Amino acid sequence: MNFEFTPEQTEFREAVRRFAEKHLAAGKLARAHDPAHPWDVAKLMGKQGLLGITMPEADGGQEGTLMDAVIAIETVASVCPRSADVVQAGNFGPVRVLAEYGTPLQKQKYLTRILAGEAVISVGMTEPEAGSAVTDLRTTATAEGHGFRINGSKVFVTHSGYADVILAYVRFGPGVGGIGSVLIDTKSEGLRRGEPSAFMSGEEWTQLYFDNVYVPPEMVVLREGGFKKQIAGFNVERIGNTSRSLALGRYAFECARQWAMQRKQFGKLLCEFQGLQWKFADMKMKLDAGQLLLYRAAANADRGFPSAEETAIAKAFCNQAGFDVANEALQVMGGTGYSQEELVEYCVRRCRGWMIAGGSIEILKNRIAEGVFERTFSQRAG
Ligand SMILES: Cc1cc2nc3c(=O)[nH]c(=O)nc-3n(C[C@H](O)[C@H](O)[C@H](O)COP(=O)(O)OP(=O)(O)OC[C@H]3O[C@@H](n4cnc5c(N)ncnc54)[C@H](O)[C@@H]3O)c2cc1C
Repeated sequence: MNFEFTPEQTEFREAVRRFAEKHLAAGKLARAHDPAHPWDVAKLMGKQGLLGITMPEADGGQEGTLMDAVIAIETVASVCPRSADVVQAGNFGPVRVLAEYGTPLQKQKYLTRILAGEAVISVGMTEPEAGSAVTDLRTTATAEGHGFRINGSKVFVTHSGYADVILAYVRFGPGVGGIGSVLIDTKSEGLRRGEPSAFMSGEEWTQLYFDNVYVPPEMVVLREGGFKKQIAGFNVERIGNTSRSLALGRYAFECARQWAMQRKQFGKLLCEFQGLQWKFADMKMKLDAGQLLLYRAAANADRGFPSAEETAIAKAFCNQAGFDVANEALQVMGGTGYSQEELVEYCVRRCRGWMIAGGSIEILKNRIAEGVFERTFSQRAG
């Protein structure tokens, strides 16, 4: 067992750090408070090879590992927390499912532009009546000729206000086995966006309505029976979510550490008060423990797909740790930490959302408990 990065990983991290410091450090505060997608950052990252890190060269990717993608997201976040979302969108999100299961035609239509930072793909799973119980989703795909008519609605979808295409989970038939996915171009007739709504983080989302939207046969990604494959891809998304939780916790920790070494009260530096030293010790232990769980899940990934159990453990722990650390960092910085002139309060707000998104902490703990007892526990009534 070796806890060190390889020389290649170290070199990659330093290259990403130089890129981030050169292009992303300036404007990081404004970027965090702007709900618009940072297209300028996305295009720069596309040119730098930071989108599609784990994807085949033939698809426009870099043929790197999931660990490389994790290194990229945490290094970018250490300089500009908001820009880490762009690394997520170009590596860990539904783009990964598209790269893995998409046809050459689907990739040609969407993947090339996504990896250039010119387009974004969203995943539409959640519905008004199907949140944690996502397999209760009601959006239907009804055969018409060789294609399908899509009817239903999705909520809380990241990038929903401006995405070019939605990887929509739909129902071809009853039960879990009836679920698959289609690509819905957001210019399609019958697709309507609701009024923009904002999360606590400042991110905006709009409800998506599909009123008899036609999806041609070549835009079906996975037919019925595809749910398990999609969830395997979704574990990659969870690793990106996990990485950002921990990275934003670490960002806030570093701000608070610097603050505690220069802010004086009662004639002493804050770092000289034992009550605050113990907070920093707790924060450090949480960050280090989370880091090991995250790297275990990423390093053990098989062909880029991490195991469901290691991902659940890493995500549940890091979502909580990232939030707790950012929240304590804010406390240590007092009114300055609570102010929007610093990014610490932003880190708290963002970390809070990841405790819900992509499988809430409670749902992940249900999954972990199933591993503990080596059996499943139905969450359903009756
Ligand atoms: C920042 C953010 C980004 C998101 N991005 C997307 C996206 O891009 N695409 C998308 O499709 N969705 C997205 N979502 C939606 C997200 O997946 C759902 O919010 C999540 O699955 C929870 O569903 P819900 O909000 O309906 O809560 P509910 O399912 O109603 O759950 C409410 C509470 O009950 C708990 N709970 C539910 N069932 C159980 C159980 N069996 N055992 C214990 N506790 C339980 C939950 O953990 C939660 O705390 C996003 C959400 C957030 C906050």
